Amino acid sequence: MARIISVANQKGGVGKTTTAINLAAALAVMEKKTLLVDCDPQANATSGLGIEPEKSGFKDLYSVFYTPAAAPQAIVETDVPYLSLIPGSRDLVAAELELVDKMAREFYLRACVREIEKETGYEYIILDCPPSLSLLTLNALCASEELLVPLQCEYFALEGIVKLLNTYRQVRELLNPGLDLLGIVLTMYDSRNRLTRDVKNEVRRCFGESLFETVIPRNVRLSEAPSHGKSIIHYDVKSRGAEAYLGLAREVARRKPEKKAPVVN
Ligand code: ATP
Ligand code: MG
Repeated sequence: MARIISVANQKGGVGKTTTAINLAAALAVMEKKTLLVDCDPQANATSGLGIEPEKSGFKDLYSVFYTPAAAPQAIVETDVPYLSLIPGSRDLVAAELELVDKMAREFYLRACVREIEKETGYEYIILDCPPSLSLLTLNALCASEELLVPLQCEYFALEGIVKLLNTYRQVRELLNPGLDLLGIVLTMYDSRNRLTRDVKNEVRRCFGESLFETVIPRNVRLSEAPSHGKSIIHYDVKSRGAEAYLGLAREVARRKPEKKAPVVN
């Protein structure tokens, strides 16, 4: 059975895709068979791994979204051993609109993921979510058993996360009782900056154990890697960013998800 992890935060630009790509690549380097599913119409996880579905004639997530039995056909092997991808594309914008009128509209992706699990031997399936609490994100949360939240160390970070955790609780109550909080990971951390240190302390106070020990530093190599179509580990393995994501992958592999949402003090 695969561990299925959604990387989600409705706030834009907090490091979801960077975390999804590099966590998936780090798990693959640990020889864990891993599938990254790009659930975002921006398709940054796809381009970040150097894959262009239109040019290569690959299928993408949208093309199999309503036909779960065909989902395994959309899997693309990447240049990285043990790492595969289901590409995203702009077409997912259409899914967002089409789903509104459908029965059980939150469960289409779950059907696809179940089909993939049946036919393949992935140990990890990582879903990169769009920056909203839209139907695509809800589909990802309903397809997952674990939620990983990247949190950028900035002033309004905590307000955003309270909203996200409320959604998480509602999803657990109404749609997917099997969803657990894997953890919160701080991204773009700058230890020289007093505000980011304060945010870290506050998050630790509020969320305690749910916060990963690994903190992702602000590292320019992390922002360069996607334009080379590579994960940070394959772009610059000696960078602080690579070290951090390898550390996060080790923690993820060790960590059992929380059974309950943390209480905000
Ligand atoms: P969106 O909400 O649009 O999907 P996102 O949450 O997926 O965004 P990313 O695309 O991962 O966020 O990151 C936003 C920008 O910040 C990107 O340009 C990325 O390269 C950069 N970035 C992410 N993490 C780091 C980091 N630790 N250090 C430096 N730059 C980073
Ligand atoms: Mg993204």
